[in-house]
Amino acid sequence: MASAITHAVVGAGIGLACTALPARSRPATIRLVSLGMLFAVLPDADVVTFAWVDYAHLLGHRGLFHAPAFYAAVSAAVALGYPRETRRVIFACVSLAMLSHSLLDALTNGGLGIAFFAPFSSTRFFFPWRPIPVSPLSVGAFFSDRGLHILSVEAFFGAPVFALGLLLHRRARR
Ligand SMILES: [Zn+2]
Repeated sequence: MASAITHAVVGAGIGLACTALPARSRPATIRLVSLGMLFAVLPDADVVTFAWVDYAHLLGHRGLFHAPAFYAAVSAAVALGYPRETRRVIFACVSLAMLSHSLLDALTNGGLGIAFFAPFSSTRFFFPWRPIPVSPLSVGAFFSDRGLHILSVEAFFGAPVFALGLLLHRRARR
């Protein structure tokens, strides 16, 4: 996994960007940013499956629960919980935030790849370029040279997404 911090920062950027989407009724900025952050981090909750299935299994970490098809279903379910006129923006925010998670993970240099085509195929994929060092699971481990190195590499990806989101948000508010 890329670190939860970076996933959350990217999710916040996506939430901000979604405030610029055309909609008859716009969800509050804080709601979109919160949804973006939450759903950009959430896919890694699938680490609980380590207790029951193999990592490489379709239902293992980075398997079905990191797949765009699963994200589309989750996003649709979340959007249905909102008033009709805001659903499209909610769907875009949640699905893009979740997708950003798998795209970042596919840039990491450790573990197994992402099952991008699950449930139709359990084959795992990485991007050909994998510059992000795989992150430690414990928060304490970040307070080390290695942790800081990882965060600095991740910031290279996270910061531009956040900055772009902020820019789009500001422009839409003008
Ligand atoms: Zn992940």
